[in-house]
Amino acid sequence: MKKFELMTLPYEVNALEPVISKQTLEFHHGKHLAGYVNNLNGLLPGSGFEEMSLEEIVCKASGGILNNAGQILNHNLYFGQFSAPKADNAPTRPLAEAIVRDFGSFEAFKEAFQKGGATLFGSGWVWLSADKDGKLVITQETNAANPIQKGLKPLLTFDVWEHAYYLDYQNRRPDHLAALWQIIDWEVVESRFK
Ligand code: MN
Repeated sequence: MKKFELMTLPYEVNALEPVISKQTLEFHHGKHLAGYVNNLNGLLPGSGFEEMSLEEIVCKASGGILNNAGQILNHNLYFGQFSAPKADNAPTRPLAEAIVRDFGSFEAFKEAFQKGGATLFGSGWVWLSADKDGKLVITQETNAANPIQKGLKPLLTFDVWEHAYYLDYQNRRPDHLAALWQIIDWEVVESRFK
């Protein structure tokens, strides 16, 4: 049967500094995400979900299988969307045009997205997704949930579990969220939008 594997980071572990430290990345990817992968592989035998993709499992499973599969899917999208910090980092067409159309401006979008992350109570994720008509929406998802469970196509996400920022920012979740814009690889996000 198929076993899920820990994704390989598409950058060096210190590449996102100072926005995300090497230490945070080593724990977040090498311990937290690796733990979810190991847990899911341990839960799959005999579950009936052995041959399904992560997306299928997240839409059909419940309990521990859902939680661990959801966290793997979420983190694969999260870690896959970053690159080294850049000043004036912003999307280009056609995603940039869709953001202006649906949120008014890139600045207004960033503000709404950060607010979604800052006001999410407890652990979870804030997402930018496209609906079936290509309209962009921001959603807050608790714990391991993913917008595909609502029929949305996930494009961009900020992880607001404390493990994502506590070593670098302690309780200052809003500061962490504000800094993340510097390391978004908009080419990756745009490729998800197409
Ligand atoms: Mn996480």
